Amino acid sequence: MATNQELAELLFPEVHGTIEELEAKYPTRYLPEGAQVTRFAPSPTGFLHTGSLFTALITYTIAKSTHGVYIFRLEDTDTKRTVPGSGEQLVSQLKEFGIVADEGYFPSGDKGEYGPYKQSERREIYKTVIKELIKRGRAYPDFCTPEDLEAIRKAQEAQKALPGYYGAWARDRNLTVDERIEKIKAGTPWVIRYRSNGDHDKKTSFVDAIRGKIELQDNDQDLVIFKSDGLPTYHFAHVCDDHFMRTTLITRGEEWIPSTPVHLDMFRALGWEAPRYAHIPSIMKLDHGNKRKLSKRKDAEAAVSYFLDEGYPTEGLLVYLMSIANSNFEEWCISNKSYDRKSFTFSLEKMSLDGALFDMGKLNYFSKEIIARTPVKELYEDVRAWAIGHDQAFFQKIDNNPEYFQKILNIERERPNPRKDYAKYGDIAPLTAFFYYAEWKKMLEAGLPFNEKFDKSLIASFLGDLKDKLLYGVDESTWFNGLKEVGAAHKFATSNKDYKANPESYVGSVSDAAELLRVALTGSKNSPNLHEVIEILGRSEVSIRLDAIAASLTK
Ligand code: GLU
Repeated sequence: MATNQELAELLFPEVHGTIEELEAKYPTRYLPEGAQVTRFAPSPTGFLHTGSLFTALITYTIAKSTHGVYIFRLEDTDTKRTVPGSGEQLVSQLKEFGIVADEGYFPSGDKGEYGPYKQSERREIYKTVIKELIKRGRAYPDFCTPEDLEAIRKAQEAQKALPGYYGAWARDRNLTVDERIEKIKAGTPWVIRYRSNGDHDKKTSFVDAIRGKIELQDNDQDLVIFKSDGLPTYHFAHVCDDHFMRTTLITRGEEWIPSTPVHLDMFRALGWEAPRYAHIPSIMKLDHGNKRKLSKRKDAEAAVSYFLDEGYPTEGLLVYLMSIANSNFEEWCISNKSYDRKSFTFSLEKMSLDGALFDMGKLNYFSKEIIARTPVKELYEDVRAWAIGHDQAFFQKIDNNPEYFQKILNIERERPNPRKDYAKYGDIAPLTAFFYYAEWKKMLEAGLPFNEKFDKSLIASFLGDLKDKLLYGVDESTWFNGLKEVGAAHKFATSNKDYKANPESYVGSVSDAAELLRVALTGSKNSPNLHEVIEILGRSEVSIRLDAIAASLTK
């Protein structure tokens, strides 16, 4: 009677290495106490998903905050789903967010001693371990065709049995070694299945680093671990990789919770200590009152590129995601008057268990805070870089006169309570359009929204007078006194109090007067600080605009 040893040799004659050699090649890491080795392990199946960025951020933050190692591993064993070029794209998109691996796959070549970091290049390792599992009788070749599997499924349905390949339903589980060898020699195609010793009537449990103890039905499925294309499946590949990369904490999406018993079972079968698992909640969306996962197909905001295209600062999105990750982060920001997430102590225990709802309003709030706190030179560079790829007209305009644009950006910035009106770079062009004569002219032609209680002749004479009498190059209160004086000459009360006390003696108050000037120059009742606006526009531009208004009002 042939042995499993012979079976293993027949299946993998090209494999000569041993697990012991792999253990020696990838030794235990010597790291400071508490340091975590984490990994982000996406499949190259398309764009960077917002949920994946969330996972990557958490994974990276834990490694950094514990002085550990953050690994990027490319899980490309599902060749049917692989989108060419997306591995490179994932690395470069993460880099835009400052999430760069200490070790891992890089398009220019791997970095680190525990590689290769792309699964398709780790075949030798997988085959070595699988060969060993076969020798130990914990894995076996399975010869079922798709039709055989379909027949099993139908029979299970008819008998109301649980679906899958397990126990008595696992057709090839109990073939003798001789039978297996015979089929292989006859050229029958095979895959390798893991032989589970589990019992689905029993429970198994583990302690999740976010959720605490999780109890699940034991696994009894004999899952495929090695496919006919010579590559392993996720279940087995991650067990090998996380063992030999010496991962201490596996952070992955919560959709993997149900298969964790399989993974723990495989670690046990191999005699390896399993790392801790932390299953990250999905990001959800409210859809007609129902919570559902953000969907690649339905939601623009499921793709990280959406935020980059709109011009959200990368830090705005990261800070927002951190607020989803730890509900105490926002409070921390407020009490520390800082949005520096790197100084915040992130904790897995404080993660909420329910998938957080993606909230655009909240993202805009954090993003405004980040943009408002960015020094003008830095912001200018970010906006410029964004405009090059996304809004050529805007780019031309700012590039024509960078100093002018920087002055505009710097209004009410670089001060303790900066102005917060831009949530994304895409907001800047429309909100600053009035600074550019051609665009202001269009507003004039469309009709400026002056308060209708003032007749045209009053507006024309007041603005005409201001043209000569507005003060330039003085501080704000001197300038405002100048404005009041001109207003007084046109019967605007110099204070709101005076106006309220005697409304019949005036045409309006000083606020009305300032508003007329604001509307005249900016086309809107809401604008940034008018004194700063006027200083930036300068005397000659202000005069040109006031003349143009006078001409249009007296037509
Ligand atoms: N490649 C798997 C995925 O993209 C990774 C899961 C894990 O991190 O282990 O879902």
